[in-house]
Amino acid sequence: MLSKCANPDCSERFLYMRDGKLFRFDPPDHQPGMPEFSGTGKKAPGRTEYFWLCRNCATVLTLISIKGLGVVPRPLRQAKAAAS
Ligand SMILES: [Zn+2]
Repeated sequence: MLSKCANPDCSERFLYMRDGKLFRFDPPDHQPGMPEFSGTGKKAPGRTEYFWLCRNCATVLTLISIKGLGVVPRPLRQAKAAAS
């Protein structure tokens, strides 16, 4: 899974944690109204997924999670413009 850059157009391989940028996406399994099971010590089902952007891509891209699409790269400039 975490073997290469999350940018499909980039073939940079994941070698060093210190390079690039690591993204963590938690599964949307906390449904409202669902009673939480306590006492089992088990975490909620679903898997936290990790994605990595290489150093080059991390300067121009970010990753966002879109329902139905999954995690997709998005231009950083665009994301910043939308936030400000
Ligand atoms: Zn890359």
